[in-house]
Amino acid sequence: MSMVDNSDQQKDGDKISFIPLGTDYPILQKIKWAESLFDQFGKLLADDRVIQEKLHQYKNAIISTGRAMDEVGVLAECTDCAVNDGGSCCGRGIESKFTVILLLINRLMGSSLAKEREDAEGCWFLGPKGCKIIARHTICVNYLCRRLQDKIPQEKLQFLQHYIGAEVDAGFVVEEELKRWFQKKKI
Ligand code: SF4
Ligand code: SF4
Repeated sequence: MSMVDNSDQQKDGDKISFIPLGTDYPILQKIKWAESLFDQFGKLLADDRVIQEKLHQYKNAIISTGRAMDEVGVLAECTDCAVNDGGSCCGRGIESKFTVILLLINRLMGSSLAKEREDAEGCWFLGPKGCKIIARHTICVNYLCRRLQDKIPQEKLQFLQHYIGAEVDAGFVVEEELKRWFQKKKI
């Protein structure tokens, strides 16, 4: 499989013979490619020890960030913001930052990828109970809005940053490992 940044590459029925890098495609097209990769290689990837280990580490890092957010009060603040102030941070267009590889990672972790937007003003992956995917973009994970910065003590935010950094690093490792995997297979 060659990694190219060109959406006009040849396709074989529903199969794709390349990994489109970059973000510059409509989200539905990227989701279609990610689903196609998952259908073609999901089983092989599930049997790959290294990939599974890296995915496991990434998932654990995501869980740890969630716990830390709860511990420092971010979850409570965001819930209050969403219920009482319309929680404005998961805006329409953030989905455009996602790559096919990150979408594939979500499929490998068990997230389904929505085929339509639920909230006209919101991100493609935003549902009534918040974000519907497991592996979020770095932009989402890193984002600490003004309200959080004002309400959560600085030392607690620093504590949280440690977990956020670990999650972002673990996600990067999986992405690179997957790219290597596809390159090695020369599929
Ligand atoms: S990050 Fe900020 S804007 Fe977004 S839900 Fe939480 S408090 Fe609200
Ligand atoms: S956290 Fe989820 S719903 Fe919110 S912007 Fe990021 S991907 Fe979209």
